[in-house]
Amino acid sequence: EAENEISFFFPKEHTLAVIKPDTPEEHREEILKEIQARGFTISQLQETVLSREMAEEFYKEHQEKPFFSQLVDYMCRGPCTMLILTKENAVEEWRAMMGPTDPSKAKETAPESLRARFAKDILENTVHGSSNKQHAQEKIHFVFGEISSESEVVSAGEDEEPPP
Ligand code: GDP
Repeated sequence: EAENEISFFFPKEHTLAVIKPDTPEEHREEILKEIQARGFTISQLQETVLSREMAEEFYKEHQEKPFFSQLVDYMCRGPCTMLILTKENAVEEWRAMMGPTDPSKAKETAPESLRARFAKDILENTVHGSSNKQHAQEKIHFVFGEISSESEVVSAGEDEEPPP
């Protein structure tokens, strides 16, 4: 089948994306729409309230940072929207869509990015995305367990061309 031939040359990649707590509903909806408009498949979508222990584990790479406890407080303050995004080059493309960590920098260098538009400050910056394929695999496993190809919850935009 044509789809399979294309996947052979341009293998699809998964990344973990998170819409962080306290994101207003209208921003959340706009983010989900934009993800699909850019040609990602949302292979899994789940609302999860992280426990403190889970948030600490999720961000364990940052446990020595001065902002670690603030970060953990933020991440378990309310529901996170956990997403597995699937697309060729998904890890890099989702990072580009998010923009830099600090929204004041994002506004200068990537004004179209999600953080430039929606983030409150360097801590409450609306979205998370894995920084490399190894992390993506680890965090997807941590949040969702093994990916099952049978279990697409929401899927859209697969047959559409992403905007230029
Ligand atoms: P990311 O990959 O762009 O999310 O950035 P990092 O992995 O460096 O940081 C993880 C998260 O910690 C960020 O998304 C922010 O929520 C928070 N964070 C990062 N740097 C700072 C900082 O300097 N101060 C505070 N308060 N929070 C930060």
